Amino acid sequence: KAAMEKVIWRRSMQMRSQQQAWQESPEGRKMLEFRRSLPAYKEKNALLMAISNNQVVIISGETGCGKTTQIPQFILESEIESVRGVLCSIICTQPRRISAMSVSERVAVERGEKLGETVGYKVRLEGMKGRDTHLLFCTTGILLRRLLADRNLKGVTYVIVDEIHERGMNEDFLLIILKDLLPRRPELRLILMSATLDAELFSSYFGGAPMVHIPGFTYPVHTHFLENVLEMTGYQLTPYNQIDDYGQEKTWKMNKQAPRKRKSQLTSAVEDALRAADFKNFGPETQESLSCWNPDSIGFNLIEYLLCNICEKETPGAVLVFMTGWDDISSLKDKLQAHPMLGDTSRVLLLACHGSMASAEQKLIFDEPEDGVRKIVLATNIAETSITINDVVFVIDCGKAKESSYDALNNTPCLLPSWISKVSAQQRRGRAGRVQPGECYHLYPRCVYEAFADYQLPEILRTPLQSLCLQIKSLKLGSISEFLSRALQSPELLAVQNAIEYLKVIGALDEDENLTVLGEVYGFLRIFNLMWSDPLTGRYLTMLPMEPKLGKMLILGAIFNCLDPLLTVVAGLSVRDPFLTPMDKKDLAEAAKAQFSRDYSDHLALVRAYEGWKDAERDLAGYEYCWKNFLSAQSMKAIDALRREFYSLLRDADLVDSTTTTCDSWSYDVHLLRAVICYGLYPGICSVVHNEKSFSLKTMEDGQVLLYSNSVNARDSKIPYPWLVFNEKIKVNSVFLRDSTAVSDSVLLLFGGSILRGDTDGHLKMLGGYLEFFMKPATAEMYQSLRKELEELIQN
Ligand code: ADP
Ligand code: MG
Repeated sequence: KAAMEKVIWRRSMQMRSQQQAWQESPEGRKMLEFRRSLPAYKEKNALLMAISNNQVVIISGETGCGKTTQIPQFILESEIESVRGVLCSIICTQPRRISAMSVSERVAVERGEKLGETVGYKVRLEGMKGRDTHLLFCTTGILLRRLLADRNLKGVTYVIVDEIHERGMNEDFLLIILKDLLPRRPELRLILMSATLDAELFSSYFGGAPMVHIPGFTYPVHTHFLENVLEMTGYQLTPYNQIDDYGQEKTWKMNKQAPRKRKSQLTSAVEDALRAADFKNFGPETQESLSCWNPDSIGFNLIEYLLCNICEKETPGAVLVFMTGWDDISSLKDKLQAHPMLGDTSRVLLLACHGSMASAEQKLIFDEPEDGVRKIVLATNIAETSITINDVVFVIDCGKAKESSYDALNNTPCLLPSWISKVSAQQRRGRAGRVQPGECYHLYPRCVYEAFADYQLPEILRTPLQSLCLQIKSLKLGSISEFLSRALQSPELLAVQNAIEYLKVIGALDEDENLTVLGEVYGFLRIFNLMWSDPLTGRYLTMLPMEPKLGKMLILGAIFNCLDPLLTVVAGLSVRDPFLTPMDKKDLAEAAKAQFSRDYSDHLALVRAYEGWKDAERDLAGYEYCWKNFLSAQSMKAIDALRREFYSLLRDADLVDSTTTTCDSWSYDVHLLRAVICYGLYPGICSVVHNEKSFSLKTMEDGQVLLYSNSVNARDSKIPYPWLVFNEKIKVNSVFLRDSTAVSDSVLLLFGGSILRGDTDGHLKMLGGYLEFFMKPATAEMYQSLRKELEELIQN
C-alpha cells in the first residue's frame, strides 16, 4: 500500500511540475492572463469552496464567462495542487458532439498540451483519450452508455453536467439517475452548469443545493425589431388604432414612406411578402397571430440588405446570423456568395456554424479575420449558448429554430420550425455585446416577441419516449412510469403509455413491461427450423445505441445471414440523407438516384449506392463516384464507420461469430431483405391504394399521407405491391413519409409485428384492424389460413 501511495504521489508531482513549467513559459503566461480576465476566474475560490463542501452545486453565468472551459480546469488544477492529480477523474457532459470536441481542444490548448493527454473527449464514433486523461468532455449519451456498464461510475470523482438550461431529454434523464446515485457514492461531486439564471428549479430538485452565480459584464446592445428594420428600408410599421378608448381591437398597419432611403437590394419580392403577411392580423396578445408571420419568406432579402448595411459601416466586428436550420444556412450561404459585395472574399469571410460542420471549418469561426475583412457567421441556435464567438458586434435573429416535438394524441413526431422563447431571444441579443456596445436586429415585430413563451418546453415533454423507456428498462431502473414521475418535470401519462405500447407491439417488452426473454425471433427460429441455443432477448436491443426498430433489423439480419446490406440500411438511417438534391440540378440528381431504385425501396437504393461507392473507393475513385451520382461523400464515409461500429456491437452481443472480423455474410436476396426491413419498421405501415393513373397512400391514424419527393417510390406511377413500410412520418402541413420500402401481403403477415410472440390476439387485432380498415378481404382470408398453419406449427 505504501508503495502504491508513493507511485501516486510521484505521478501527481509530475503533473504539477509539468503545469508549472507551462505557466512560466511565454505562451503559457499569455494564456493564463487571458484566463484570468474571464469573469469565472474572480469566483474561483468561492466555486471550489462550494464544490468541496457540497455534493451538488449549481452554477449559473452569462454565456462566455468561462463555465465550460474554466470550471473543470479549476477543479483539475486544485487536485493537482494538492498532489492528488492522478486520482481525480472529471467527466463533463455536453449536449452536442461538436461542443464536446471543440471545448476539449480549447482546454488542451489552454493547458499547453496535446488533446488526449490530460484532457480528452469522447463522442459517438470518435474520441481522443489516453491513459492519463483526467478530464473528459463527452456527450450526455456517452455517459449514459457508461452507466449501462457501470452503475456506480466507479473511479469517477466529479460529474459536471453542462448546459442544463437547454433541458434536453438525455440531460433530464441523466439527472434522475444521478440523483439516485448520489447517496450510493457520497464522495462523488455533481456540478450543474446553466447559462440562464433560473437555477432554483434544479436547486430544489436536489434538496436545496447551493447556487453560485458568476456575475458577467456585457456592453449595452441596441435592439431593433422588425418595425425599426423596415423603417431603415423606407417602410414604416405603425401601430394603428393602438390607443383605443372605444373598445376597438388593436391592429397594425404598414405605411409606405417616400422611397428615398430604399436600397436596390430590397427587391419587390420583399414588398410583396410584407404585404402578404398582412400586419393587420397582429394582436399583441394572440399566440395564433404568430403563425401568420413567416420570416423565412422575406428573411433572406432582409438579411442580405442588413449585411450590406453593416459591411458599409466603419465599426469593425463580426456578424452573427441566427437561422432556423442547416438547410436555410446553406441556401442563404449560396445566395450571399453570389452577391457582388458579400461574395467578395477579400472583404467578407462567410462561415457556417451548425452541428455537423467539419472541424477545420470550426476553427475558422474562432479566428479573427484579417484587417478589412468582415467575418459573417451563419449559425443555428448552437451559437446561442454552447459556442462563443468572441468578436461579434452585430446579431441578426430570424426568431425561429427547428424543434422536434411530438403529438401524443396521434403518436406522430414532428420537426417544425417554431418560434424561440424570450430567453433564447435575449441570449441571441446578448451575443452582440461581448467586446463593445453592439447592435441586434430581430426580424420580427416587437408584438411577436411579447407573445413568445418565456422558456422553451423541455424536450422530455415534447418528444416520443420509446428509446428513453427502453433505456430505463436496460438500466434496471424499475417501473417506467414510476421512474419518469421522478423527473424534473414528468411527461404526460399518455405519451408514456404510447411509448410502452409501441415497445410491446415490436416485441421488446412483454405484457409486464419486462424486456422480452422469449423474443419474437425465438418464435421465428422455430418456424424456420434453425438451431439457436440462445433465445433472443430485448436486452440485445439496448446494447445497440440506436432506435429499437433499427436494432431489430440488425438482429434478424444476423440470424438470416444477410447482415451486410442491413448494416448499410441501418447506418444509412442514422446519418443525414446521402442522396443530394441540389436546387439547380434536381433532374440530374433524380436521374442518378433512379439507377439505384429498381426495388421500390429507398432502403435498398441506398444499399446499391453504397456498394457502388465501396467498389469505387477500392480504386480510390470514391469522390468521383459520389460527384457523378449526387451522393454525399461525407455521408458515405459516416455510413462506412457506423457499419463497423454496429458490427462490433453485434459481436460484443454474441450475435455474430466472434471469430469473423469482417462483415461477410452477403446476401442479395431482395425478398428476404424486404422482409427483414418490414420486420424492423412495423408498425410503420401504410396501404397503397391504386387508382387509374397513379396511387394514393393511407395509414390508419392519419388517413391520406404523402411521400417525400426524393423517395424512389414517389416517382413511379405504380407500385406493384400493396403496402409500404416506412421509417418515419413527419407532420409538416400534411403527414409525410420518409424512406419507404414496398412489401407484399405475405411478407407483412409473416414479418409484421408479433404474431409468434404469444401475444397473437393483440397482434391480430392490430393487423385485423388494418385489413378491415383497408378492406382487403382476400388478404384477410389468406391471413386466417396462414394463422392456422402457424399455430399448428407452434403447437407441434
Ligand atoms: P461559457 O461556458 O461560460 O459559455 P466558455 O468557457 O465556453 O464560456 O468560454 C470562455 C471564453 O473562452 C469565451 O469567452 C471565449 O472567449 C473563449 N473561448 C472558448 N472557446 C474558444 C476557442 N475554441 N478558441 C478561442 N477562444 C475560446
Ligand atoms: Mg459553455
